[in-house]
Amino acid sequence: MSQVKVLEYYDQADWQAIRKVADQHETPFVVMDLGIIRRKYNELLEHFPFAKIYYAVKANPANEILEMLRDMDSCFDIASIYELDKVLALGIGPERLSYGNTIKKARDIKYFYDKGVRLFATDSEQDLRNIAKMAPGSRVFFRILTEGAETADWPLSRKFGCHPDMAIDLILLAQQLNLKPYGISFHVGSQQRDIGAWDSAIAKVRYIYDYCHEVNIELKMINMGGGFPANYISKTNPMSTYAEEITRYLHEDFGDDLPEIILEPGRSLVAEAGVLVTEVILVSRKSSVALDHWVYVDAGKFNGLIETIDESMRYPLYCEARGEPSDLFVLAGPTCDSQDIMYEQFRNPLPSYIKPGDRVYFLTTGAYTTSYCSVEFNGFPPLKTYFVPEDEVGE
Ligand SMILES: *Cc1c(COP(=O)(O)O)cnc(C)c1O
Repeated sequence: MSQVKVLEYYDQADWQAIRKVADQHETPFVVMDLGIIRRKYNELLEHFPFAKIYYAVKANPANEILEMLRDMDSCFDIASIYELDKVLALGIGPERLSYGNTIKKARDIKYFYDKGVRLFATDSEQDLRNIAKMAPGSRVFFRILTEGAETADWPLSRKFGCHPDMAIDLILLAQQLNLKPYGISFHVGSQQRDIGAWDSAIAKVRYIYDYCHEVNIELKMINMGGGFPANYISKTNPMSTYAEEITRYLHEDFGDDLPEIILEPGRSLVAEAGVLVTEVILVSRKSSVALDHWVYVDAGKFNGLIETIDESMRYPLYCEARGEPSDLFVLAGPTCDSQDIMYEQFRNPLPSYIKPGDRVYFLTTGAYTTSYCSVEFNGFPPLKTYFVPEDEVGE
């Protein structure tokens, strides 16, 4: 058994810069390194040179990240009027935005329309009729259900999307309602480990394109969502392999002349750029003969680690305490809620002499942590974020 090796996740310079910031603050907090996000963004563009990137703001909505991506000409996938106000306030124009949430109030659609947004996702008739009324003439894309829930660490296709045949019905209706049926979207599930999930989704898109062509509706866009991987405990294929395979599927189904391709990365852009730093509050046993030790740290399910529900996301943990790595530790958070246990089945080896005051670093926690915090549950505030200073951001 061995501890996580930090250098398998961060290069030396990045880790030092992150540690330098971490050492100056009281836990819990997340340190973000913008340089890593910049590299991830450029890497994605390099692998998908034909695609337009719409950053999924919900993954981490920090202004510093939005501003950097704004200056790198990214577009943005927006889920609510609150995210909309936030990005508009940063000087990001409405032509760079899509309202990607299929669950929306009619008055919120109007709010987006009044602010200039003309690109909307939908997967139901009621929502489509609302769009026609509140955002007349807009471009609409239709979200379909996909397979892949079993192979994604955080599935996203059950609540969202409709059957391809229903998408076709909606497309025909959209045209009657004087909207512009623009494209098809899907999300194969976040941290999708099976690249083949894109293959079957793209085949469904091809089927819809063919049907529409028959009735003289020419769709122009495929939105392939997110689902691209970040580096957690279980290894995935590298981004280059995802890109090669997905590009091949696209060309197999759509030939050389691809429609407009949109990607909506969240996790894969920001997760690896963040480290959640916690401190051990207590280490205890439940009886004098219990083998397991409980380690309580000052962040948990309600302040940053919600994706440990069902132990779905397995973050690499690192701790500099003394002792041999041991897997006798159950890891739990600080609140008075018995759900606030991160890992009981999954054992991330921690040093055997871990004690109160030691720091536990959760690696790869830049996505869905700060944006997924409760407000004032037990009085604990949402997680703070500190950024590595610009002059120490690597290229
Ligand atoms: C959450 C979400 C994304 C981002 O997914 P990741 O797996 O984090 O990349 C993209 N598109 C939509 C519509 C989403 O809801």
